[in-house]
Amino acid sequence: MMCTKELITGKAFINGQWISGTETFDVVNPATGGVVQKVANLTIPQVREAVEAAHHSWVSFKKSDVAERAEMLEDWYKLMLAHKRELAEIITLESGKSLTDSLGEVDYGASFVLWFAEESKRAYGETVPAATQANRIVTIKQGVGVVAAIAPWNFPLAMVTRKVAPAIAAGCPVILRPASQTPLTSLALAILAERAGWPVGVFHVVTGTDASAMGYELSTHPLIRKLSFTGSTAVGKLLMKQSATQVKKLSLELGGNAPFIVFEDADLDAAVEGAMFAKFRNAGQTCVAVNRFLVADVVFDAFASRLTTAVASLKVGNGLDDGVQIGPLINRKGRDKVEKHIADAVDKGARVLTGGKVIKDLYYEPTVLADVPADALIAREETFGPVASLFRFKTEEEAIRMANDTEFGLVAYFYSNDVRRCWRVAEAIEAGMVGVNEGRISFAGAPFGGIKESGIGREGGRVGLEEYLEVKYINFGLAGS
Ligand code: NAP
Repeated sequence: MMCTKELITGKAFINGQWISGTETFDVVNPATGGVVQKVANLTIPQVREAVEAAHHSWVSFKKSDVAERAEMLEDWYKLMLAHKRELAEIITLESGKSLTDSLGEVDYGASFVLWFAEESKRAYGETVPAATQANRIVTIKQGVGVVAAIAPWNFPLAMVTRKVAPAIAAGCPVILRPASQTPLTSLALAILAERAGWPVGVFHVVTGTDASAMGYELSTHPLIRKLSFTGSTAVGKLLMKQSATQVKKLSLELGGNAPFIVFEDADLDAAVEGAMFAKFRNAGQTCVAVNRFLVADVVFDAFASRLTTAVASLKVGNGLDDGVQIGPLINRKGRDKVEKHIADAVDKGARVLTGGKVIKDLYYEPTVLADVPADALIAREETFGPVASLFRFKTEEEAIRMANDTEFGLVAYFYSNDVRRCWRVAEAIEAGMVGVNEGRISFAGAPFGGIKESGIGREGGRVGLEEYLEVKYINFGLAGS
Protein backbone atom coordinates (compact mmCIF):
# COMPACT_ATOMS: atom_id res chain seq x y z
CA MET A 1 0.00 0.00 0.00
CA MET A 2 1.28 3.49 -0.89
CA CYS A 3 1.38 5.95 1.97
CA THR A 4 1.10 9.68 1.55
CA LYS A 5 4.22 11.63 2.58
CA GLU A 6 2.50 14.98 3.02
CA LEU A 7 2.87 15.02 6.80
CA ILE A 8 6.20 13.20 7.10
CA THR A 9 9.20 15.31 8.08
CA GLY A 10 12.54 14.58 9.74
CA LYS A 11 12.98 18.14 11.01
CA ALA A 12 12.48 19.05 14.64
CA PHE A 13 10.29 22.04 15.53
CA ILE A 14 11.72 24.78 17.75
CA ASN A 15 10.34 28.29 18.12
CA GLY A 16 8.43 28.10 14.86
CA GLN A 17 11.50 26.90 12.91
CA TRP A 18 12.00 23.50 11.29
CA ILE A 19 15.47 22.29 12.35
CA SER A 20 17.48 19.72 10.38
CA GLY A 21 20.13 19.01 13.02
CA THR A 22 23.77 18.33 12.20
CA GLU A 23 23.23 14.63 12.92
CA THR A 24 20.27 12.40 12.19
CA PHE A 25 18.91 9.05 13.35
CA ASP A 26 16.81 6.46 11.55
CA VAL A 27 13.16 5.80 12.27
CA VAL A 28 12.66 2.15 11.37
CA ASN A 29 9.44 0.40 10.39
CA PRO A 30 9.14 -2.61 12.75
CA ALA A 31 7.14 -4.47 10.07
CA THR A 32 9.91 -4.45 7.48
CA GLY A 33 13.11 -3.22 9.14
CA GLY A 34 13.24 -0.48 6.48
CA VAL A 35 14.10 3.15 7.25
CA VAL A 36 10.98 5.33 7.13
CA GLN A 37 12.73 8.66 7.66
CA LYS A 38 15.95 10.20 8.94
CA VAL A 39 15.21 12.56 11.82
CA ALA A 40 17.18 15.41 13.43
CA ASN A 41 19.23 14.26 16.40
CA LEU A 42 19.21 17.42 18.50
CA THR A 43 21.87 18.49 20.96
CA ILE A 44 21.22 19.58 24.54
CA PRO A 45 21.87 23.28 23.71
CA GLN A 46 19.08 22.99 21.11
CA VAL A 47 16.74 21.56 23.74
CA ARG A 48 17.64 24.54 25.97
CA GLU A 49 16.83 26.88 23.10
CA ALA A 50 13.35 25.37 22.94
CA VAL A 51 12.91 25.79 26.72
CA GLU A 52 13.97 29.44 26.59
CA ALA A 53 11.70 30.15 23.61
CA ALA A 54 8.80 28.46 25.38
CA HIS A 55 9.45 30.57 28.48
CA HIS A 56 9.55 33.70 26.35
CA SER A 57 6.23 32.84 24.70
CA TRP A 58 4.61 32.20 28.09
CA VAL A 59 4.76 35.93 28.90
CA SER A 60 2.04 36.62 26.34
CA PHE A 61 0.44 33.18 26.12
CA LYS A 62 -0.57 33.16 29.78
CA LYS A 63 -2.54 36.36 29.10
CA SER A 64 -4.26 34.99 25.99
CA ASP A 65 -8.05 34.76 25.89
CA VAL A 66 -9.60 31.44 26.72
CA ALA A 67 -11.63 31.72 23.52
CA GLU A 68 -8.40 31.98 21.52
CA ARG A 69 -6.94 28.85 23.11
CA ALA A 70 -10.19 26.93 22.63
CA GLU A 71 -10.12 27.91 18.95
CA MET A 72 -6.47 26.82 18.59
CA LEU A 73 -7.45 23.38 19.88
CA GLU A 74 -10.63 23.17 17.79
CA ASP A 75 -8.67 23.99 14.63
CA TRP A 76 -6.00 21.41 15.52
CA TYR A 77 -8.74 18.83 16.14
CA LYS A 78 -10.39 19.52 12.77
CA LEU A 79 -7.05 19.19 10.95
CA MET A 80 -6.37 15.88 12.71
CA LEU A 81 -9.68 14.48 11.55
CA ALA A 82 -9.18 15.89 8.03
CA HIS A 83 -5.83 14.04 7.93
CA LYS A 84 -6.97 10.95 9.82
CA ARG A 85 -5.77 8.48 7.19
CA GLU A 86 -2.31 10.07 6.78
CA LEU A 87 -1.79 10.26 10.54
CA ALA A 88 -2.88 6.62 10.96
CA GLU A 89 -0.44 5.50 8.26
CA ILE A 90 2.41 7.34 9.99
CA ILE A 91 1.50 5.70 13.32
CA THR A 92 1.52 2.27 11.64
CA LEU A 93 4.77 2.94 9.78
CA GLU A 94 6.71 3.86 12.89
CA SER A 95 5.04 1.72 15.58
CA GLY A 96 3.97 -1.34 13.57
CA LYS A 97 0.40 -1.42 14.91
CA SER A 98 -2.43 -2.42 12.57
CA LEU A 99 -4.02 0.34 10.53
CA THR A 100 -7.35 -0.37 12.25
CA ASP A 101 -5.70 0.27 15.63
CA SER A 102 -4.02 3.42 14.25
CA LEU A 103 -7.28 4.82 12.84
CA GLY A 104 -8.84 4.17 16.25
CA GLU A 105 -5.91 5.94 17.90
CA VAL A 106 -6.40 9.07 15.77
CA ASP A 107 -10.06 9.26 16.80
CA TYR A 108 -9.21 8.59 20.42
CA GLY A 109 -6.24 10.99 20.52
CA ALA A 110 -8.16 13.75 18.73
CA SER A 111 -11.08 13.38 21.16
CA PHE A 112 -8.84 14.74 23.95
CA VAL A 113 -8.18 17.87 21.89
CA LEU A 114 -11.89 18.58 21.49
CA TRP A 115 -12.54 17.74 25.13
CA PHE A 116 -9.91 20.19 26.39
CA ALA A 117 -10.99 22.89 23.90
CA GLU A 118 -14.31 22.79 25.74
CA GLU A 119 -12.86 22.28 29.20
CA SER A 120 -10.54 25.31 28.85
CA LYS A 121 -13.65 27.42 29.46
CA ARG A 122 -14.37 25.73 32.78
CA ALA A 123 -11.27 26.41 34.87
CA TYR A 124 -13.54 27.63 37.64
CA GLY A 125 -12.35 29.07 40.92
CA GLU A 126 -14.57 29.45 43.97
CA THR A 127 -15.70 31.98 46.52
CA VAL A 128 -14.97 30.95 50.09
CA PRO A 129 -16.96 32.29 53.06
CA ALA A 130 -14.53 34.34 55.14
CA ALA A 131 -14.44 34.08 58.92
CA THR A 132 -15.42 37.75 59.38
CA GLN A 133 -17.11 40.59 57.46
CA ALA A 134 -13.71 42.21 57.08
CA ASN A 135 -12.59 39.88 54.30
CA ARG A 136 -13.68 38.37 51.00
CA ILE A 137 -11.96 35.24 49.73
CA VAL A 138 -11.79 33.84 46.23
CA THR A 139 -9.67 31.27 44.44
CA ILE A 140 -8.59 31.51 40.81
CA LYS A 141 -6.86 28.94 38.59
CA GLN A 142 -3.81 29.88 36.53
CA GLY A 143 -1.65 27.91 34.12
CA VAL A 144 1.37 26.32 35.77
CA GLY A 145 3.91 27.63 33.21
CA VAL A 146 6.23 25.92 30.73
CA VAL A 147 5.50 22.19 30.43
CA ALA A 148 7.85 19.41 29.33
CA ALA A 149 6.10 16.34 27.95
CA ILE A 150 7.88 13.01 27.40
CA ALA A 151 5.89 10.41 25.45
CA PRO A 152 6.27 6.66 24.78
CA TRP A 153 6.15 4.81 21.45
CA ASN A 154 3.06 2.67 21.99
CA PHE A 155 0.49 5.44 21.32
CA PRO A 156 2.50 8.00 19.34
CA LEU A 157 -0.53 10.28 18.92
CA ALA A 158 -2.84 9.74 21.87
CA MET A 159 -0.14 9.96 24.56
CA VAL A 160 0.86 13.30 23.03
CA THR A 161 -2.59 14.90 22.74
CA ARG A 162 -3.45 13.87 26.31
CA LYS A 163 -0.63 16.15 27.46
CA VAL A 164 -0.42 18.93 24.87
CA ALA A 165 -4.17 19.69 24.70
CA PRO A 166 -4.72 20.34 28.43
CA ALA A 167 -1.46 22.32 28.64
CA ILE A 168 -2.49 24.61 25.77
CA ALA A 169 -6.01 24.85 27.23
CA ALA A 170 -4.41 26.12 30.46
CA GLY A 171 -2.21 28.64 28.61
CA CYS A 172 1.03 26.69 29.07
CA PRO A 173 3.67 26.39 26.30
CA VAL A 174 4.87 22.81 25.73
CA ILE A 175 8.18 21.19 24.82
CA LEU A 176 7.41 17.69 23.61
CA ARG A 177 10.02 14.96 23.48
CA PRO A 178 8.59 11.95 21.60
CA ALA A 179 10.11 8.46 21.88
CA SER A 180 13.01 8.07 19.46
CA GLN A 181 11.24 5.13 17.79
CA THR A 182 8.12 7.16 17.00
CA PRO A 183 8.89 10.87 16.50
CA LEU A 184 7.14 11.18 13.13
CA THR A 185 3.58 11.36 14.47
CA SER A 186 4.59 14.17 16.86
CA LEU A 187 6.24 16.07 14.01
CA ALA A 188 3.12 15.59 11.86
CA LEU A 189 1.08 17.04 14.74
CA ALA A 190 3.46 20.04 14.81
CA ILE A 191 2.85 20.59 11.07
CA LEU A 192 -0.89 20.62 11.79
CA ALA A 193 -0.44 22.98 14.78
CA GLU A 194 1.50 25.35 12.52
CA ARG A 195 -1.28 25.15 9.91
CA ALA A 196 -3.81 25.85 12.65
CA GLY A 197 -1.96 29.14 13.22
CA TRP A 198 -0.69 28.45 16.75
CA PRO A 199 1.45 31.35 18.05
CA VAL A 200 5.19 30.85 17.59
CA GLY A 201 6.87 29.44 20.68
CA VAL A 202 3.94 27.69 22.36
CA PHE A 203 4.71 24.24 20.94
CA HIS A 204 8.10 22.64 20.31
CA VAL A 205 9.03 19.09 19.32
CA VAL A 206 12.57 18.09 20.26
CA THR A 207 13.77 14.85 18.68
CA GLY A 208 16.84 12.81 19.55
CA THR A 209 18.27 9.52 20.67
CA ASP A 210 19.88 10.52 23.96
CA ALA A 211 16.80 9.99 26.08
CA SER A 212 18.58 10.23 29.42
CA ALA A 213 20.43 13.49 28.64
CA MET A 214 17.30 15.09 27.18
CA GLY A 215 15.24 13.77 30.09
CA TYR A 216 17.76 15.17 32.57
CA GLU A 217 17.62 18.59 30.91
CA LEU A 218 13.81 18.65 30.83
CA SER A 219 13.46 17.49 34.43
CA THR A 220 16.06 19.88 35.89
CA HIS A 221 15.79 23.07 33.79
CA PRO A 222 14.61 25.82 36.14
CA LEU A 223 12.34 27.43 33.52
CA ILE A 224 10.23 24.27 33.26
CA ARG A 225 7.46 24.25 35.86
CA LYS A 226 5.80 20.95 35.09
CA LEU A 227 6.85 17.57 33.70
CA SER A 228 4.35 15.13 32.27
CA PHE A 229 5.72 11.68 31.51
CA THR A 230 4.25 8.46 30.15
CA GLY A 231 6.43 5.39 30.10
CA SER A 232 8.01 2.79 32.33
CA THR A 233 7.96 2.95 36.11
CA ALA A 234 11.78 2.80 36.23
CA VAL A 235 12.20 5.95 34.10
CA GLY A 236 9.28 7.62 35.92
CA LYS A 237 11.06 7.15 39.25
CA LEU A 238 14.28 8.61 37.86
CA LEU A 239 12.48 11.66 36.47
CA MET A 240 10.69 12.13 39.78
CA LYS A 241 14.02 12.14 41.58
CA GLN A 242 15.55 14.59 39.10
CA SER A 243 12.49 16.88 39.22
CA ALA A 244 12.79 17.09 42.99
CA THR A 245 15.61 19.62 42.60
CA GLN A 246 13.03 22.32 41.80
CA VAL A 247 9.95 20.61 43.24
CA LYS A 248 8.39 20.51 39.78
CA LYS A 249 4.75 19.65 39.38
CA LEU A 250 4.55 16.10 38.01
CA SER A 251 2.19 13.82 36.13
CA LEU A 252 3.43 10.25 35.77
CA GLU A 253 1.55 7.63 33.74
CA LEU A 254 3.58 4.49 34.32
CA GLY A 255 3.50 0.73 33.92
CA GLY A 256 0.81 -1.71 34.96
CA ASN A 257 0.12 -5.37 35.67
CA ALA A 258 -3.59 -5.49 34.95
CA PRO A 259 -5.70 -8.35 36.28
CA PHE A 260 -8.83 -9.50 34.42
CA ILE A 261 -11.06 -11.60 36.69
CA VAL A 262 -13.63 -13.98 35.24
CA PHE A 263 -16.03 -15.02 38.01
CA GLU A 264 -18.13 -18.18 37.80
CA ASP A 265 -21.28 -16.09 37.17
CA ALA A 266 -19.76 -14.14 34.26
CA ASP A 267 -21.19 -13.97 30.74
CA LEU A 268 -18.30 -15.86 29.14
CA ASP A 269 -18.92 -14.60 25.59
CA ALA A 270 -18.88 -11.00 26.81
CA ALA A 271 -15.74 -11.76 28.84
CA VAL A 272 -13.97 -13.18 25.78
CA GLU A 273 -14.96 -10.15 23.70
CA GLY A 274 -13.70 -7.78 26.41
CA ALA A 275 -10.54 -9.84 26.80
CA MET A 276 -9.69 -9.68 23.11
CA PHE A 277 -9.76 -5.88 23.17
CA ALA A 278 -8.16 -5.42 26.58
CA LYS A 279 -5.34 -7.89 25.83
CA PHE A 280 -4.63 -7.93 22.09
CA ARG A 281 -5.03 -4.32 20.92
CA ASN A 282 -1.66 -3.08 19.64
CA ALA A 283 -0.32 -6.66 19.97
CA GLY A 284 -0.61 -6.41 23.75
CA GLN A 285 1.67 -3.38 23.91
CA THR A 286 -0.60 -1.08 25.89
CA CYS A 287 -0.24 0.03 29.50
CA VAL A 288 -3.84 -1.09 30.10
CA ALA A 289 -3.20 -4.52 28.53
CA VAL A 290 -4.32 -7.43 30.67
CA ASN A 291 -1.28 -9.14 32.14
CA ARG A 292 -3.04 -11.76 34.27
CA PHE A 293 -6.36 -13.50 33.58
CA LEU A 294 -7.67 -14.80 36.91
CA VAL A 295 -10.33 -17.38 36.11
CA ALA A 296 -12.71 -19.17 38.48
CA ASP A 297 -11.91 -22.87 38.63
CA VAL A 298 -15.42 -23.96 37.59
CA VAL A 299 -15.41 -21.95 34.33
CA PHE A 300 -11.67 -22.18 33.66
CA ASP A 301 -11.82 -24.74 30.85
CA ALA A 302 -14.84 -23.15 29.16
CA PHE A 303 -13.28 -19.66 29.20
CA ALA A 304 -9.86 -20.98 28.14
CA SER A 305 -11.33 -22.86 25.20
CA ARG A 306 -13.43 -19.90 23.92
CA LEU A 307 -10.52 -17.48 24.35
CA THR A 308 -8.16 -19.87 22.55
CA THR A 309 -10.53 -20.13 19.57
CA ALA A 310 -10.72 -16.32 19.31
CA VAL A 311 -6.95 -15.86 19.71
CA ALA A 312 -6.06 -18.55 17.17
CA SER A 313 -8.12 -16.70 14.55
CA LEU A 314 -6.22 -13.40 14.87
CA LYS A 315 -4.51 -12.32 11.65
CA VAL A 316 -0.85 -11.37 12.10
CA GLY A 317 1.10 -9.33 9.54
CA ASN A 318 2.25 -5.93 8.33
CA GLY A 319 -0.15 -3.44 9.90
CA LEU A 320 -0.74 -1.73 6.56
CA ASP A 321 -2.12 -4.91 4.96
CA ASP A 322 -5.86 -5.50 4.78
CA GLY A 323 -7.44 -7.41 7.63
CA VAL A 324 -4.31 -7.53 9.80
CA GLN A 325 -5.15 -7.36 13.50
CA ILE A 326 -1.75 -7.99 15.09
CA GLY A 327 1.39 -6.25 13.82
CA PRO A 328 5.01 -6.89 14.79
CA LEU A 329 6.41 -6.15 18.24
CA ILE A 330 8.16 -2.80 18.49
CA ASN A 331 11.75 -4.08 18.62
CA ARG A 332 14.07 -6.95 19.43
CA LYS A 333 14.11 -6.12 23.14
CA GLY A 334 10.30 -6.33 23.26
CA ARG A 335 10.31 -9.64 21.42
CA ASP A 336 12.99 -11.09 23.72
CA LYS A 337 10.93 -10.20 26.79
CA VAL A 338 7.89 -12.03 25.40
CA GLU A 339 10.02 -15.10 24.63
CA LYS A 340 11.60 -15.02 28.08
CA HIS A 341 8.23 -14.75 29.87
CA ILE A 342 6.73 -17.64 27.90
CA ALA A 343 9.78 -19.90 28.37
CA ASP A 344 9.80 -19.18 32.10
CA ALA A 345 6.04 -19.90 32.49
CA VAL A 346 6.31 -23.16 30.51
CA ASP A 347 9.36 -24.22 32.54
CA LYS A 348 7.31 -23.72 35.69
CA GLY A 349 4.41 -25.86 34.40
CA ALA A 350 2.16 -23.62 32.24
CA ARG A 351 0.43 -25.22 29.23
CA VAL A 352 0.50 -23.55 25.78
CA LEU A 353 -3.07 -23.63 24.38
CA THR A 354 -2.19 -21.75 21.20
CA GLY A 355 0.81 -19.83 19.84
CA GLY A 356 4.03 -19.71 21.84
CA LYS A 357 6.54 -19.13 19.05
CA VAL A 358 8.21 -16.43 17.00
CA ILE A 359 6.77 -16.37 13.46
CA LYS A 360 9.71 -14.43 12.06
CA ASP A 361 11.61 -11.25 12.83
CA LEU A 362 9.45 -9.18 15.20
CA TYR A 363 6.24 -11.12 14.56
CA TYR A 364 5.06 -13.30 17.45
CA GLU A 365 2.19 -15.78 17.49
CA PRO A 366 -0.79 -14.63 19.60
CA THR A 367 -0.55 -16.95 22.58
CA VAL A 368 -2.69 -18.40 25.36
CA LEU A 369 -1.06 -20.02 28.40
CA ALA A 370 -3.11 -22.00 30.92
CA ASP A 371 -2.39 -22.88 34.55
CA VAL A 372 0.37 -20.32 34.89
CA PRO A 373 1.89 -20.61 38.38
CA ALA A 374 1.97 -17.64 40.75
CA ASP A 375 5.78 -17.54 40.79
CA ALA A 376 6.10 -17.10 36.99
CA LEU A 377 7.78 -13.88 35.80
CA ILE A 378 4.64 -13.07 33.84
CA ALA A 379 2.70 -12.81 37.10
CA ARG A 380 4.89 -9.97 38.32
CA GLU A 381 6.20 -8.08 35.26
CA GLU A 382 4.43 -6.37 32.40
CA THR A 383 4.87 -8.70 29.37
CA PHE A 384 3.92 -6.08 26.72
CA GLY A 385 3.12 -8.66 24.06
CA PRO A 386 0.31 -10.82 22.61
CA VAL A 387 0.26 -13.34 25.45
CA ALA A 388 -2.80 -14.19 27.56
CA SER A 389 -1.80 -15.92 30.80
CA LEU A 390 -4.53 -17.76 32.68
CA PHE A 391 -4.33 -18.35 36.44
CA ARG A 392 -6.93 -20.27 38.51
CA PHE A 393 -8.76 -19.15 41.66
CA LYS A 394 -11.45 -20.70 43.83
CA THR A 395 -13.03 -17.89 45.91
CA GLU A 396 -13.79 -14.19 45.50
CA GLU A 397 -11.40 -13.36 48.37
CA GLU A 398 -8.61 -15.28 46.66
CA ALA A 399 -9.28 -13.48 43.35
CA ILE A 400 -9.12 -10.05 45.01
CA ARG A 401 -5.95 -10.98 46.88
CA MET A 402 -4.32 -12.20 43.65
CA ALA A 403 -5.48 -9.10 41.72
CA ASN A 404 -3.99 -6.75 44.32
CA ASP A 405 -0.78 -8.74 44.76
CA THR A 406 1.34 -6.34 42.69
CA GLU A 407 3.14 -3.04 43.21
CA PHE A 408 1.20 -1.66 40.23
CA GLY A 409 -2.33 -0.24 40.22
CA LEU A 410 -3.25 1.14 36.82
CA VAL A 411 -6.34 -0.79 35.75
CA ALA A 412 -8.29 -3.94 36.57
CA TYR A 413 -11.15 -5.64 34.75
CA PHE A 414 -13.67 -8.17 35.96
CA TYR A 415 -16.76 -9.96 34.68
CA SER A 416 -19.68 -10.99 36.88
CA ASN A 417 -23.47 -10.86 36.61
CA ASP A 418 -23.99 -10.41 40.35
CA VAL A 419 -24.60 -6.71 41.03
CA ARG A 420 -23.61 -6.94 44.71
CA ARG A 421 -20.36 -8.66 43.83
CA CYS A 422 -19.70 -6.00 41.17
CA TRP A 423 -19.79 -3.21 43.75
CA ARG A 424 -17.87 -5.23 46.32
CA VAL A 425 -15.05 -6.15 43.97
CA ALA A 426 -14.87 -2.73 42.24
CA GLU A 427 -14.34 -1.12 45.65
CA ALA A 428 -11.82 -3.73 46.85
CA ILE A 429 -9.59 -3.55 43.77
CA GLU A 430 -6.45 -1.42 44.14
CA ALA A 431 -6.30 0.38 40.78
CA GLY A 432 -6.97 3.83 39.38
CA MET A 433 -9.44 2.42 36.83
CA VAL A 434 -11.81 -0.57 36.91
CA GLY A 435 -13.69 -2.08 33.97
CA VAL A 436 -16.79 -3.93 35.24
CA ASN A 437 -18.06 -6.16 32.43
CA GLU A 438 -16.14 -3.82 30.14
CA GLY A 439 -12.79 -4.22 28.38
CA ARG A 440 -12.69 -0.73 26.80
CA ILE A 441 -12.14 1.84 29.51
CA SER A 442 -10.35 4.75 27.79
CA PHE A 443 -12.45 7.85 27.14
CA ALA A 444 -11.42 11.54 26.96
CA GLY A 445 -13.99 12.59 29.55
CA ALA A 446 -12.78 10.12 32.19
CA PRO A 447 -9.74 10.48 34.47
CA PHE A 448 -7.12 8.04 33.17
CA GLY A 449 -4.32 7.10 35.54
CA GLY A 450 -2.98 4.79 38.18
CA ILE A 451 -2.23 4.40 41.87
CA LYS A 452 0.69 2.70 43.65
CA GLU A 453 3.73 2.48 41.32
CA SER A 454 1.55 3.06 38.24
CA GLY A 455 1.80 6.80 38.65
CA ILE A 456 0.67 10.16 39.89
CA GLY A 457 -2.06 12.34 38.43
CA ARG A 458 -4.72 11.78 35.78
CA GLU A 459 -5.07 12.50 32.06
CA GLY A 460 -8.48 13.30 30.61
CA GLY A 461 -11.65 14.43 32.28
CA ARG A 462 -12.05 17.48 34.48
CA VAL A 463 -9.01 16.59 36.57
CA GLY A 464 -6.88 16.30 33.40
CA LEU A 465 -6.99 20.10 33.11
CA GLU A 466 -6.30 20.63 36.82
CA GLU A 467 -2.92 18.94 36.30
CA TYR A 468 -1.81 22.04 34.35
CA LEU A 469 -3.34 24.64 36.68
CA GLU A 470 -2.30 26.12 40.00
CA VAL A 471 -4.82 27.34 42.56
CA LYS A 472 -4.29 30.86 43.83
CA TYR A 473 -6.20 32.01 46.89
CA ILE A 474 -6.85 35.76 47.11
CA ASN A 475 -7.89 37.36 50.39
CA PHE A 476 -9.41 40.85 50.07
CA GLY A 477 -9.19 42.86 53.27
CA LEU A 478 -12.12 45.30 53.55
CA ALA A 479 -11.24 46.91 56.88
CA GLY A 480 -10.10 50.56 56.92
CA SER A 481 -11.27 53.56 54.89
P1 NAP B 1 10.35 3.95 28.60
O1 NAP B 1 11.58 3.23 28.28
O2 NAP B 1 10.18 4.48 29.98
O3 NAP B 1 10.22 5.11 27.52
C1 NAP B 1 9.19 6.08 27.57
C2 NAP B 1 9.75 7.43 27.12
O4 NAP B 1 10.79 7.84 28.01
C3 NAP B 1 10.40 7.40 25.73
O5 NAP B 1 10.22 8.65 25.14
C4 NAP B 1 11.86 7.18 26.05
O6 NAP B 1 12.73 7.62 25.04
C5 NAP B 1 11.99 8.06 27.27
N1 NAP B 1 13.11 7.75 28.14
C6 NAP B 1 13.83 6.61 28.24
N2 NAP B 1 14.80 6.76 29.18
C7 NAP B 1 14.68 8.02 29.67
C8 NAP B 1 15.38 8.78 30.64
N3 NAP B 1 16.41 8.26 31.34
N4 NAP B 1 14.98 10.04 30.88
C9 NAP B 1 13.96 10.58 30.20
N5 NAP B 1 13.26 9.93 29.26
C10 NAP B 1 13.61 8.65 29.00
O7 NAP B 1 9.06 3.08 28.35
P2 NAP B 1 8.79 2.10 27.15
O8 NAP B 1 9.15 0.73 27.60
O9 NAP B 1 9.35 2.58 25.89
O10 NAP B 1 7.21 2.28 27.08
C11 NAP B 1 6.33 1.39 27.58
C12 NAP B 1 5.97 1.72 29.04
O11 NAP B 1 5.10 2.83 29.08
C13 NAP B 1 5.22 0.59 29.68
O12 NAP B 1 5.66 0.38 30.98
C14 NAP B 1 3.79 1.09 29.67
O13 NAP B 1 2.96 0.49 30.64
C15 NAP B 1 3.98 2.54 29.89
N6 NAP B 1 2.81 3.28 29.46
C16 NAP B 1 2.00 3.82 30.42
C17 NAP B 1 0.86 4.50 30.06
C18 NAP B 1 -0.05 5.09 31.10
O14 NAP B 1 -0.88 5.92 30.75
N7 NAP B 1 0.07 4.72 32.36
C19 NAP B 1 0.54 4.65 28.70
C20 NAP B 1 1.39 4.08 27.74
C21 NAP B 1 2.53 3.41 28.15
P3 NAP B 1 13.38 6.61 23.98
O15 NAP B 1 12.21 5.85 23.43
O16 NAP B 1 14.01 7.49 22.97
O17 NAP B 1 14.32 5.74 24.73
